[in-house]
Amino acid sequence: PTGSNDCELLVIGGGPGGYSAAFRAADLGLNVILIERYPTLGGVCLNVGCIPSKALLHVAAVSEEAERLSAYGVTFAAPDIDLSKLRYFKSVTVGRLTDGLGQMAKMRKVDFVQGEARFTAADRVSVDLSNGLSREITFSKCIIAAGSSPVALPVFPEDPRIVNSTGALELPSIPRRMLVVGGGIIGLEMATVYSALGARVDLVELFDKLLPGVDRDLVKIWQKRNAHRFDRVMLATKVSEVGLTPDGLSVTFEGTESASQIYDMILQAAGRKPNSGSLALEAAGVRVEGGIISVDREMRTNVDNIFAVGDIVGQPMLAHKAVHQGHVAAEVAAGRKTGFDAKIVPSVAYTDPEIAWVGVTEDEAKAKGLAVEVSRFPWSASGRAIANGADYGLTKLIFSKESGRIVGGAIIGPAAGDIIGEVCLAIEMGADAVDIGKTIHPHPTLGETIGMAAEVAEGVCTDIP
Ligand code: FAD
Repeated sequence: PTGSNDCELLVIGGGPGGYSAAFRAADLGLNVILIERYPTLGGVCLNVGCIPSKALLHVAAVSEEAERLSAYGVTFAAPDIDLSKLRYFKSVTVGRLTDGLGQMAKMRKVDFVQGEARFTAADRVSVDLSNGLSREITFSKCIIAAGSSPVALPVFPEDPRIVNSTGALELPSIPRRMLVVGGGIIGLEMATVYSALGARVDLVELFDKLLPGVDRDLVKIWQKRNAHRFDRVMLATKVSEVGLTPDGLSVTFEGTESASQIYDMILQAAGRKPNSGSLALEAAGVRVEGGIISVDREMRTNVDNIFAVGDIVGQPMLAHKAVHQGHVAAEVAAGRKTGFDAKIVPSVAYTDPEIAWVGVTEDEAKAKGLAVEVSRFPWSASGRAIANGADYGLTKLIFSKESGRIVGGAIIGPAAGDIIGEVCLAIEMGADAVDIGKTIHPHPTLGETIGMAAEVAEGVCTDIP
């Protein structure tokens, strides 16, 4: 029953926040319309974010690992890269997942409307359909999951050689010299891909450090392991001018570097902004601050029947956060009593090596005056890490001195993103060092380093190599 409205729940945006909300709401019996401006579901994450980048990072990691094997007596020929095949692999990977989402929407009878929505009131939107017509849709409740887009800095003119993450993932060519603007996760991941494919990369970052907010011990290791990738890493520096010449893009810097350099490609990865501008939120009375929609624990905006989830509600702009928020909003919309009360949201840079981190860092604890115990387990003492050529890795756990419970963790090394899940669970469950240390981990694994780091915190001498 939808009363006089076209649907009980309207979801705007088909990314991780939107599709997870639409599917959960349909599973709970609501009649759902999902509006997405592009023909496929999946949003940024599946189409031009998490998934295509990981397909390319997988290829980059395997080819660099193969190169490293020469130190152990196994030598392969230099990679011969067929860009069109590589693009095809990436597109097939994306297509399998977006097609799967389309089928899941059909199975659940979620009505998919392709078009761009904007509010005309707190219970209706006008949709510019893909066929050029427009349609009004009325709803009882709405979940806004319109996501975010790359920030375009005014210093960069329009030119096909200047791309954002979406353009870079299309792999237009492998530049000889590339400038990556932004030392955050996306910039470092794309630098990893392009350098593995043969580009010489320079990196420029406005802040005086890469990956701000990440444990400094790990970033130090990352920089050392990645020194071969970059000709120049320019911190506390900005691009002040870009000249377009037939020979390349002439870039002038301001900061630690001032000499001009010529590049064949520039990647702008200087952050993302919420897509709130084109939704006409004022027509529905939804409050926005700095482009971000503020929400309460139930993911409800200041307007009672309108919820918002994912990148559009601000940092961290990560797919797994969007999915969890989507579920909460859908459940609340369906009348369940629930809320978003995750203690932590983990982050991962899927570079080579990977860095994964969650919760409180050592620096943050210091800055906030929190009494913590920091335990480190260097992978040079892990049998598996040594066997895998990953003895440079590090697992760090942070425990509250007051409660003894784990409050943070950070890992650098292969598969760090896969193994950090245990630290997330430990934090959510309020585990202490004994809980983690006395849990039998499979040997020999990289995940075992979490148990060992906990034993270090317990003051127990670890004796499993
Ligand atoms: P989005 O995925 O942005 O989806 C919003 C959707 O809404 C879009 O499809 C858009 O077309 C649609 N839309 C917007 N406005 C309207 C409108 N008015 N009408 C109709 N439709 C509209 N996160 C991770 O967790 N792990 C990763 O490894 C990772 N890698 C990334 C790599 C890259 C290169 C990028 C760019 C991002 C990456 N992210 C990653 C971030 C992740 O993609 C986002 O956090 C996630 O997609 C946010 O989901 P969302 O549903 O909020 O929004």
